[in-house]
Amino acid sequence: MTIAEILQLQKKFFQTQHTKDVDFRIEQFEKFKDLLVQHQDLLYEATALDFGKSQFETFTTEISFILNDIDYYLKNLSSLSKPKKVKTNLANQIGSSKIHYEPLGNILVIGAWNYPYQLSFSPTVAAIAAGNCCIIKPSEIAENTMKAMAKLINENFPKEYLYVFEGGISETTEILKERFDKIFFTGSTKVGKIVYQAAAEHLTPVTLELGGKSPVIVTENADIEVAAKRIIWGKFLNAGQTCVAPDYILADEKIKNRLLEKLKFYIQKFNYQNESEHYTKIINEKNFDRIINLIDPKKIYFGGNSERENRFIEPTILNDINWNDNIMQEEIFGPLLPVIPFKDYNEALHEIMIREKPLSAYLFTNNPEEKDRFLNTISFGGGCINDVIMHLSNENLPFGGVGSSGMGNYHGKFGFETFSHQKAVLEKKTWGEPDLKYPPYTDSKKKWIKRLL
Ligand code: NAD
Repeated sequence: MTIAEILQLQKKFFQTQHTKDVDFRIEQFEKFKDLLVQHQDLLYEATALDFGKSQFETFTTEISFILNDIDYYLKNLSSLSKPKKVKTNLANQIGSSKIHYEPLGNILVIGAWNYPYQLSFSPTVAAIAAGNCCIIKPSEIAENTMKAMAKLINENFPKEYLYVFEGGISETTEILKERFDKIFFTGSTKVGKIVYQAAAEHLTPVTLELGGKSPVIVTENADIEVAAKRIIWGKFLNAGQTCVAPDYILADEKIKNRLLEKLKFYIQKFNYQNESEHYTKIINEKNFDRIINLIDPKKIYFGGNSERENRFIEPTILNDINWNDNIMQEEIFGPLLPVIPFKDYNEALHEIMIREKPLSAYLFTNNPEEKDRFLNTISFGGGCINDVIMHLSNENLPFGGVGSSGMGNYHGKFGFETFSHQKAVLEKKTWGEPDLKYPPYTDSKKKWIKRLL
């Protein structure tokens, strides 16, 4: 069957109204959850094959995320999907006003490879919660996980409801010609633009979850030990192939050397070796070569070793980097951590402000004034004070970018809203209406209308 035919089946199925039934959605969640638990081995095997990712990390950063999302919606679905009463203004008395959440309809989710299950299934779960049908196109770069997802979904759900479509650039180009009610894309800013253009052809709304260079600032008022420990964990998780990973550090000159020592200490302590089961490999040779080319050997403070045949790059810290260095011209998306020193905190904020708005930004300080300036000066999708990455694990916060790092957001209730149309409905009584709005407009009516408006 072609993808166009599957989409037609999904359109017909959506029109039956089945997916709008809250009990139907709950049944799908129960099933989805069982499948994820029962088929964990299939999922673990695929991440191990694709990038040597351990079961533990696949569970903590992917499977548990999706299970938590499902549990959130199982708990909150009936309240989320109820119409919400809002105030009714004087001109509309006697009446009541409500927002009805209706599913958008037929959704296309396009995923990235770096957290393949989470990035394809978390939006899918939110689309199910809102009552939609969904075609999922995972990244072909992580081929084994794409196949595992196709097996899990296509063998267990009817294709008129959920379907995983396997394909690369040419197949995705073809799907993008179809008319969907929403496209949810996770990936690079470059491909985000292609998706946005294709969507414009049908006036299809999009959510774009993109990337960029996410900074970490460490000021003289930071707890250096805590900063180093948390930055190293967040940076080298998944070997730096994380959209919200700290891309580079801006360190106050006064504490830079102390910070560098601690960063090195934690890399060694966390034992990120080639054979270590908690250190992920680079996804493919193309990315391996791209990352290696960003290393300026003269600036290596720690690390720098690599083995192409194992797609292993040692966690590497680069010191005394400046804004013109190659490594500062693109998102690193790998285990290299450049450190740029600064003298003046305002200058550091300014340098971030004049560049593209990052997906995330992080500040380590215990100074409230520095925190306020950080939050008020620079724009970024989301972030943390005194931590990295963890903001995205709180389902009560929206997750998404701004400017070139994306548009729209999801997680928790925000995901439900992303895949819903908010239908505004005013309901009037058929009695008790003053005659004021109807002509002829006498002087006394005009006087009253002016007063009321
Ligand atoms: P990518 O943009 O290369 O690919 C993403 C998806 O788009 C894949 O499914 C791929 O098949 C498809 N695609 C690629 N080229 C295409 C084309 N020309 N036409 C149509 N479809 C095409 O991104 P990637 O390499 O998979 O992921 C890395 C990027 O994604 C990084 O920039 C990272 O920051 C970003 N990312 C963002 C988030 C987020 O939540 N904001 C999460 C993960 C990754």
